[in-house]
Amino acid sequence: MGIGAWLKRIFGGSEGEGGDDSCVACGSSALTALADGVYRCDECGYEGGDGFAAWRTERDKEALRELSPSALRARAVKALEGARLTLVAAAGGAEGGSDSGWKFTLSVGDGAALANVDAQEAARMARERRAGVAKARSEALAAIPIFEVLAEEGQGEPGLLPHLQRLRDLEQTDPAEPSALASIIGGAGAALSG
Ligand SMILES: [Zn+2]
Repeated sequence: MGIGAWLKRIFGGSEGEGGDDSCVACGSSALTALADGVYRCDECGYEGGDGFAAWRTERDKEALRELSPSALRARAVKALEGARLTLVAAAGGAEGGSDSGWKFTLSVGDGAALANVDAQEAARMARERRAGVAKARSEALAAIPIFEVLAEEGQGEPGLLPHLQRLRDLEQTDPAEPSALASIIGGAGAALSG
């Protein structure tokens, strides 16, 4: 299943019945079609429809295609570095023994630290940790269209394909397991930087 079809399946249902006939935000039926299954509401300006997510992804990729391969790489590195920092902060990570920055390890919340806080505080910390890991996951997923465009260039980027596949697999896995997420981010980042 392609990314467009997948997004369509995920987001299509949330638009509700008759999503293309009336605005889901304000209920107005004065809609301008932007593309197949995509509309802009004349009343409130909301953009949506069954095809909206796939349409927006394609529009973003068209903008990415204007960039040089080195600019694309820089952008992907930036996205992954942001995800890495978010994950390290969320999961209480410690840097590994590598200078590269991409080979990082996470220290899983230890009992000694948690023994000093009450149950309510521990629950709050666990919630924050989950939210941080989820944020890191979505930041890493933002690199997917960039990897896809780099792969389209088809020039000297075959080494990125396994990492693109791992990112796509991550997209299907929610919530992400922190150490698996660390491995995907680290691998993709190292491949781009190498
Ligand atoms: Zn509207």
